[in-house]
Amino acid sequence: MNIGVLALQGDFIEHIAILRRIGVDTREVRLPEHLNDLDGLIIPGGESTTIGKLAVDFNLLQPLREFGRQHAIWGTCAGAIFLSRDARRTQPLLELMNITVERNAFGRQVDSFEIDLDIPALREVDPNPAPYHAIFIRAPLIESVGEGAQVVATLPDGRIVAARQCKWLATSFHPELTDDDRFHRYFLEMAAS
Ligand code: GLN
Repeated sequence: MNIGVLALQGDFIEHIAILRRIGVDTREVRLPEHLNDLDGLIIPGGESTTIGKLAVDFNLLQPLREFGRQHAIWGTCAGAIFLSRDARRTQPLLELMNITVERNAFGRQVDSFEIDLDIPALREVDPNPAPYHAIFIRAPLIESVGEGAQVVATLPDGRIVAARQCKWLATSFHPELTDDDRFHRYFLEMAAS
């Protein structure tokens, strides 16, 4: 397995550290040719408008879309926004996942929060999972999932914070900022399938 991490902006280093720790080959992706021979790609948290503008400047938008049609892609927070079809405003998006996101849905930076969630999908990688400690930093909500996409995690009030469609995964929160590698292992299974 070789999993790339889009390294235009945001917390790509943290994803790379977790991948290395669980023994996966990884590479920073900044140019179209860096996608060659990868089995999957992670798009980190950061600022989705900046990631989008840089992807346009580095001629990555089309290569990323083509890569995504064949391979697994996981977006965390800003990465989830970039992966979506609709962010309710004009900004460069990959428009792959059939989800509508609401940016900064919980308010400003000071309204960031952490919460334990029950995420049944993680039983695929751990039969007896403890609650999942999710970190939300000026996070988006997944307002709705469209045809082909499924809900993977919700807040206790039912609002959607993770979704999956085929080989694409979107999480509003940041598994790369915890020691818990279950989401990374869940994504590896998606990439291998
Ligand atoms: N607020 C950012 C955006 O809209 C996302 C924040 C994050 O990735 N932690 O792109």
